Amino acid sequence: VVAARGVRMSYGDTQVLHGVDFSVAPGEVSCIIGPSGSGKSTFLRCVNGLEPVLGGSLRVLGEEVGYTLRDGKYRLWSPKRFATFRMRIGMVFQRFNLFAHQTALENVACAPIHVAGMPADKARELAVEHLAQVGLAEHAHKRPHQLSGGQQQRVAIARALAMNPTLMLFDEPTSALDPELVDEVLEVMKKLALDGMTMVVVTHEIGFAREVGDTLTFFDEGVVVERGAPAELIADCKQPRTRAFLSSVL
Ligand code: ATP
Ligand code: MG
Repeated sequence: VVAARGVRMSYGDTQVLHGVDFSVAPGEVSCIIGPSGSGKSTFLRCVNGLEPVLGGSLRVLGEEVGYTLRDGKYRLWSPKRFATFRMRIGMVFQRFNLFAHQTALENVACAPIHVAGMPADKARELAVEHLAQVGLAEHAHKRPHQLSGGQQQRVAIARALAMNPTLMLFDEPTSALDPELVDEVLEVMKKLALDGMTMVVVTHEIGFAREVGDTLTFFDEGVVVERGAPAELIADCKQPRTRAFLSSVL
């Protein structure tokens, strides 16, 4: 589903990714950890086609992503092709970014109606199902400010699911939540994983990585330092940098 080889990326003159190798197979849950500024969010943005890849190869859902340097030339996707690609990827951020003036139901039904062109009544029907899937059937008509942080994040997950994505990307989905709200969001993600969703999850919830993850990848300074089965990596990592980081979050 994702195959990155030597992915490089810069913001202006500052190179942020220095050759990332990473892959995700269908149905796999791939967790990413690493210090602040190591390029985790940037890498997810590249996978999502939001940032140009300036070198190496990044294939996502069978497509070479973004603007690719090939024969010394940049290749730019047409906006239409790009929109179709983005529809197949669900993204959940640290901040929930819900539309404040809309109910949970409207938030979930919005993209299917306005991006995918689904009839409104059909989209609302499906939105109810997706809200039920994240345990929020009772809260469909509340606005974000009437919901807890954990509930808002579950609405954000339902909203991503509403586009029926092939791949879900999570960027520290629980790190803005009060500790007592973290588990309800992780539970929803775990259920999604058990249903076979392919997921890339940037998280410092090591327990989640160990229990739900198929692989755990440690990023530092724009490269993948180490990668392996979560339990093995946590118990017996080979790289001093990984060990130092793990001891700081465990
Ligand atoms: P965190 O754990 O804090 O979320 P991260 O691993 O997700 O960190 P990134 O957000 O990918 O790190 O940032 C990698 C580097 O790129 C950092 O040095 C950051 O300052 C820089 N950076 C991120 N976004 C931009 C931007 N829009 N413009 C310029 N530099 C940026
Ligand atoms: Mg980040």
